[in-house]
Amino acid sequence: HLSPRLNAVADFVPLNARLADIGSDHAYLPVNLLLNDKISHAIVGEVAKGPLDNAHHELKKRHLLERADVRLASGLAAINDTDNVDTVTIAGMGGILISNILNAGKQQEKTFKTLVLQPNTDEQIVRRWLTTQHYQIIDETIVQEESHFYEIIAAVVGEQQLSDLDLIFGPYLRVEKTATFVAKWQKESERIALIFKQLQAAGKSDTDTYRQWQLRYNQIQAVIS
Ligand code: SAM
Repeated sequence: HLSPRLNAVADFVPLNARLADIGSDHAYLPVNLLLNDKISHAIVGEVAKGPLDNAHHELKKRHLLERADVRLASGLAAINDTDNVDTVTIAGMGGILISNILNAGKQQEKTFKTLVLQPNTDEQIVRRWLTTQHYQIIDETIVQEESHFYEIIAAVVGEQQLSDLDLIFGPYLRVEKTATFVAKWQKESERIALIFKQLQAAGKSDTDTYRQWQLRYNQIQAVIS
């Protein structure tokens, strides 16, 4: 069974995909998708030896090594042209690292039809990368695990214009405005309210920093109200 976070990633993987899961660690995601016959083949990429061994162990335990290739490589370098990969998942990393991995792949002229990304942070950087690199977001979801909120973004090759609000809050998430989405941004508002207090106590209410936090606070309130 997958965690709610990885389950949401799995939900966005197209049926019968030839998948590459980059930074797979225990390979829980490809194992689940292969066991459920949702995908036909998986490339399991890992940059570190320990996680690579974890992935190999899990796949072997489930007798899935015939339908998966485990590769030690950084980012999309794990994928060869002959793999015919059409879908790439990258989950559980910071948004900047995800963008860097995608950028490095672009330089090797590696393009994949579908990307399913789950940045732990800096979601707006990932969305900006997608729209500037000729991907269009086709769906998004947000899940909560304990006190953490995770956004999952599905994109396919295509063109899309995103506003600043779309980049920050997500073009689908900000319209759907689920209870989980509101809770995430409510939590961020509370964090900013504490920052206001600290700045006020330090006599820094009349500063650009203060005004920038105020803008962000007001923007969040407008989106979730
Ligand atoms: N994807 C799994 C998940 O979402 O549960 C595991 C996430 S784990 C926190 C991040 C993994 O990414 C680590 O195992 C790490 O070794 C791997 N990683 C970090 N940078 C990478 C890179 N450039 N290429 C491949 N894997 C990378």
